[in-house]
Amino acid sequence: MLNLVIFGAPGAGKGTQAAMLIEKYNLVHLSTGDLLRKEIAEGSEIGKQAQAIMARGEFVSDEMVVSIISGQIDRHADANGFIFDGFPRTVRQAGMLDELLKSKNMSISIVVAMEVPETELVRRLLERGKVSGRADDQNMDVIANRIHVYHEKTEPVTGYYDAQKKFVSVNGLGAIEEIFGRLTAVIDQVK
Ligand code: ADP
Repeated sequence: MLNLVIFGAPGAGKGTQAAMLIEKYNLVHLSTGDLLRKEIAEGSEIGKQAQAIMARGEFVSDEMVVSIISGQIDRHADANGFIFDGFPRTVRQAGMLDELLKSKNMSISIVVAMEVPETELVRRLLERGKVSGRADDQNMDVIANRIHVYHEKTEPVTGYYDAQKKFVSVNGLGAIEEIFGRLTAVIDQVK
């Protein structure tokens, strides 16, 4: 099994690269952002709880995302592997994910991060906001808050995986195909 975490700040290009990686390695893509937006669109209880939190650019609870992820892993029991995108986003989520995977006789193979300078992140998010209509991509205060929360809560996750010797980062600037090549070079080494 190949279980990847794709890591990076909001706007780093995780979703774009994940969509290409699932094709190449025949994996299931689990984006907590996408899964939460689906809950909102369906008007579920989880969606109702998540909506206002996401609109501010804050994090929903660790328990909520871990339970969504657990359900998705079980739904895809025959998968070749998974790409976790936008998750884990806190050190506590990373610990909870390890426990969860252990209970299912699975583990993370590698964490691949994309490094993108902050000015470029903001430019990409505003651009995406025009195309996708995502409200959290159209408001500069919300974007700034997401980047702030990323530094405060998500960046420490790199140390968690570094301690396990599972963390590798690549340059996230350049053509999409070029960045894909950098990621697959790293992944092919652990496969
Ligand atoms: P981006 O990576 O561009 O910020 P996502 O689609 O990954 O966008 O996430 C959108 C929002 O969903 C986040 O700002 C947050 O409110 C919520 N969210 C997604 N994943 C998580 C998570 N693992 N933990 C807590 N909140 C999350």
